[in-house]
This record gives sequence, C-alpha cells and structure tokens, in this order.
Amino acid sequence: MPETTQERFLQELIATLGTDVAQRGAPERYRTDWSGTPPQQPLALVRARSTEEVCALMRLCSRHRIPVVPQGGLTGLAGAAVPGAHTVALSLERMQAIESVDPRTAVMRVQAGATLQAVQQAAQAAGLVFGVDLGARGSCQIGGNIATNAGGNGVLQHGMMREQVLGLEVVLADGSLLPMLRPMLKNNTGYDLKQFFIGAEGTLGIVTRALLRLRPAPQARTTALVAMPGFDAALAVLARMQQRFGNGVAAFELMWDSFVRASVDWQKLAPPFAQAHALLALIDVDGRDEADLRTAVQELLGEAMQAGEVGDAVIAQSVAQARRLWQLREAPAELNKNMHPAINFDVSLPQADIGRFADAVQTAFDARWPGQHSLFFGHVGDGNLHVSTDGATVNGECEAVEAELYRLVAEFGGSISAEHGIGLHKKPFLAASRTPAELAAMRAIKQALDPLQLLNPGKILD
Ligand SMILES: Cc1cc2nc3c(=O)[nH]c(=O)nc-3n(C[C@H](O)[C@H](O)[C@H](O)COP(=O)(O)OP(=O)(O)OC[C@H]3O[C@@H](n4cnc5c(N)ncnc54)[C@H](O)[C@@H]3O)c2cc1C
Repeated sequence: MPETTQERFLQELIATLGTDVAQRGAPERYRTDWSGTPPQQPLALVRARSTEEVCALMRLCSRHRIPVVPQGGLTGLAGAAVPGAHTVALSLERMQAIESVDPRTAVMRVQAGATLQAVQQAAQAAGLVFGVDLGARGSCQIGGNIATNAGGNGVLQHGMMREQVLGLEVVLADGSLLPMLRPMLKNNTGYDLKQFFIGAEGTLGIVTRALLRLRPAPQARTTALVAMPGFDAALAVLARMQQRFGNGVAAFELMWDSFVRASVDWQKLAPPFAQAHALLALIDVDGRDEADLRTAVQELLGEAMQAGEVGDAVIAQSVAQARRLWQLREAPAELNKNMHPAINFDVSLPQADIGRFADAVQTAFDARWPGQHSLFFGHVGDGNLHVSTDGATVNGECEAVEAELYRLVAEFGGSISAEHGIGLHKKPFLAASRTPAELAAMRAIKQALDPLQLLNPGKILD
C-alpha cells in the first residue's frame, strides 16, 4: 500500500476516534499472543470504548480497505489474534461491563471485553455458575472465548462456549450492526446467525456484546484420583460414572503415565500411588450432599475395582486435598519451561479410539525419533486429547512431528483442533479435518459476510 494512502488513513482514523482511542503502531503487548508467534507491529491500535466506536472503525476501514484484527485477552494458542503489518489491531479490553445478571432466568448480559473470571465471579455472586472454565480465566475475554468457541474444564457437564451463548451483538465488516440479543433458548426462525460468529476467530464479525446462559451452582463436589490399567478400563469407569451420576460428572481428566511422571518430577510432588499405573483419571462429581456423594463414589469405585477396571484410588476428604490432587494435572503450565521447545497438540478423536490413537502416535514417533519424549493427557470425557513433544528429543524437527501427528488424526477421522482453533498455526493442516466441500462452504460464508477480506485476513483460511 502506498505510504501516502496509509498516512491519509491514519490521520482520518485519529481524527474520527481521537487520540485516547486510536494510536499509530501498538505497544509490545498487542503485537502477539500466547502462541509464541513472532510479534508484528500493526499500522495502528484502536482501544474501543463502545459498540459505536467499533462501527465507526469498521466503516472507515471498509472505505480505505484496511484490515482489522480483533483482540481479546491475547491468550490464544493458535496465533489468531496476531496483527499483520498492514492491519489495525482492535482491542476490546475497555468494553468490560457486566451489564446485567438475572438470577431468576439465569441470564447475564456482558460486553465482549469482560474477562472470563469477571463473568464467573458475577455468576457466583448471583448464586449461579458460568459453564466454561479454563486456565487463562484471569486474562481471556468473553469475546475471545466466543470467537474461539473455548472448551476447558466444564465441557463434559455444560458443553463448549457455543452452549453458553443465548445471543450476540456483532459488528460486521462494513461497520453495520447485527443485533441478536434475544434471551430465548428456542428460536427456530431461519438460520441461527449467531452460530456463524462463534468459533470464527474474528474472521466474520466483531463480537461486542453477549447474552450468556448461567447454570445452577452444585451443592457438593467430590474429587477422586483413580488408577486404571488401560484405556478401555478408563472408558468403562467413565460409563459407570455417567450411568450412576448422570450430568453430575463434571470432569474426567485422563493422564498417561509419562505425563504423571513428568508432572511429579517438574513440580516436585510425592508420587500419588506406591506403584505406577498405565493411566490416572482425575474425576469431579457434583451432587447434593457431601457425605452421601463421597460414599456413593467410593461404592462405585469398589465395584469397578472388583471388575478389574480400577487398580487403585484415592478420594479427597477435603477441598484442600482435592486441590492437591488437581495439582498433578497442572503440569501443562510447566511444558514450555521443560521442553525445548514444547510442540503442543490439541486434537479430538472419536472417544473410543483415543487409546489406540495415543499408542499409534507413540509408535510412529519412536520409529522415526528413537528416545523422543512425548506426554499424553486430556479432557478425555469429551474426546479431547493433548499431546506435547519435547522438540530437543526430535532434533528440532517440529514441522515433521506436526505432519506425522496430523496424518494420524486424519487416519482416525479426528479433528486437528479440539478447542484452541486454527488461527495461523494449524492453517496448513486444515484439510486433514475438513473435506473440500466443507472448505468451499466456509469460503462462501466468508465471501458473503466479508467480501473485502477485512476481518482478520489470513487466519483459518487464505
Ligand atoms: C494457560 C492457558 C490455558 C488455556 N486453556 C484452555 C482450555 O482449557 N481450553 C481452551 O479452549 N482454550 C484454552 N486456552 C486458550 C485461550 O485461553 C482461549 O482460546 C481463549 O478463548 C482466548 O480468549 P482471548 O480473549 O485471550 O482471545 P485472543 O487470544 O485475544 O483472540 C483469540 C481469537 O479470537 C478473536 N477475538 C477476540 N476477541 C474477539 C471479539 N470480541 N470479536 C471477534 N473476535 C474476537 C481474535 O481475533 C482471535 O482470532 C488456554 C490458554 C492459556 C494461555
């Protein structure tokens, strides 16, 4: 783009929005996200205070053909919020109002820049809970959670972000407003337009407000750490749990032995059991009465032990002990420090195939990179497996490792991204999980909603 055109745009941008909202370039923290993508200095940064300012920005950018990259809390792991050199970075961080919470109907209205933690706290203050929780809760924003269709710890019980959204307000690429803030669960009036923007990673519209569905708070919770001899046994235990406790099963996090050993080692924890087991599951179950729930979980685990599905188990007797058990699962925070670099995967698979898939990955990696070091863990209750490989043990051949794992994902009919999105990082592999017909339909939707390719260009699709 000629410099004079850029300069004219920047002058008009600052004249329209003012120096409090728009500035040339951007401070370091707006140049990249958590994914480790090399930082990029954008043309300008806009820190909008209202939907009207977002509309004004998009009208201007549409006239000047300048692309815009929406930014939430910048905790994304796929490089999707990293600006390009000729783009405007649009931060939603100042639009963080919790506008209303109705405890009778369990509906909350928020601006897109509210952090997930602020939403959780506001729900809790109303005696309810918000269904999505994840490690980046203090920084990530509801707008970013919606744009990535975030998953996390509560998916088994409440579904992904998509299931928490009743309505949206969205600014389109031409600066027009699409208000869809109707608080009804049932609304079969043609296309459910809000769904297009959930998981679209800011490529179809900018989310400025949301109506969120809240859930009743559990009265009691029991946590257990359960050792199992193999993946089929783990599935059998999960099925038992769900038959007995239904939607009360809030978490079923599976950790392979390699992960458990790394976690114990890195965090200097005491080994959870006297002997090693192929798999450990961290299980949270919700119910009405603490003591009754603990007894029921104990009985069920006893039956599973008799059936050979469980080798050992411990049930937390207090909140503090439950926290200590969960600490074992906190190793991902240590990955980047202890793996050089960590090559991280977030895939999903048909639930019954996860064990075979993990074995196939281990075998394929061992064959090509003898002595390689990989860890397997995941929210297996919802089919989501995470794999982390130490780059040093595969001679830094990160791209070959990715290609090998995604080849196996395609072979097993899985998805290359369960919850982190595609962004920049997984774009080369999208065809492993989507057919040409699906990709063509996605391109048609993008073309219809953003014909000038102004919204987050180059992310998900070229
Ligand atoms: C420690 C840690 C733990 C994590 N755990 C999980 C987990 O368990 N599950 C999970 O799913 N993810 C997890 N993540 C990834 C990340 O937190 C989520 O993807 C989160 O939803 C991103 O929100 P954000 O506000 O930081 O978005 P950003 O990173 O700022 O942006 C992500 C995408 O959303 C778009 N976007 C942001 N705001 C808007 C908006 N208002 N309108 C339109 N588009 C927008 C951006 O353009 C970009 O494409 C984790 C990340 C970290 C660092």
